Amino acid sequence: MIRRCPQHGFFRGERCECGETGSQVLDATRTEQLGRLVAGALRHFPDDMGLAMSPQGWVEIPILVDALRTRHRWANENLLVALVQSDPKQRYEIRQGRMRARYGHSVDVELDHPENQLDELFYGAAEEEADRILEVGLRSASQRYVHLSTSPEKAWHVGTFRTSNPRVIRVDAASAQMAGVRMMRVNDNIVISDPIPAQYLSQIPSRDLKLQTQ
Ligand SMILES: [Zn+2]
Repeated sequence: MIRRCPQHGFFRGERCECGETGSQVLDATRTEQLGRLVAGALRHFPDDMGLAMSPQGWVEIPILVDALRTRHRWANENLLVALVQSDPKQRYEIRQGRMRARYGHSVDVELDHPENQLDELFYGAAEEEADRILEVGLRSASQRYVHLSTSPEKAWHVGTFRTSNPRVIRVDAASAQMAGVRMMRVNDNIVISDPIPAQYLSQIPSRDLKLQTQ
């Protein structure tokens, strides 16, 4: 659910970080419904919803609201703002009357986030997947960009959503970027990248992971 703290604005769950319960903006079911439809619209099927999307992934908010309302009559601009501002994963952004997903696209976009500054990045893979990645390089079959993590522990954690004992691949981001591979910072946890050739990839022995810090 989304609630609003008088001091700190929109938040997810029962209580703001300050302890305030605030007032309800959207119940849990509708938060889920709106979140799923917005993700579909801005990441996966804008065309199916009749949305014109700029090359950088932007959609005009009034047009997005109209499209959302064909499915959920109660949708409105204020709820989109609440969804964006309360999202702990910072999935979306709003700028100058437009909204976009910041990552996670399967549609073809050319995002313009700041260039990655970290020398090393990480990717958590299933065992059988890891061997293949080290041989042929890292690319996503379903997504526009490869999504990398900013620490080996975060990568391992992401990997656990797909497999019980993920292997962690280290990406020599500095060298890859020098060679022209585009990598962009999304937030403290995620960097998105164009496909990465195998020569910039190596595997981290699992004994080197500090998993107790998770
Ligand atoms: Zn608060």
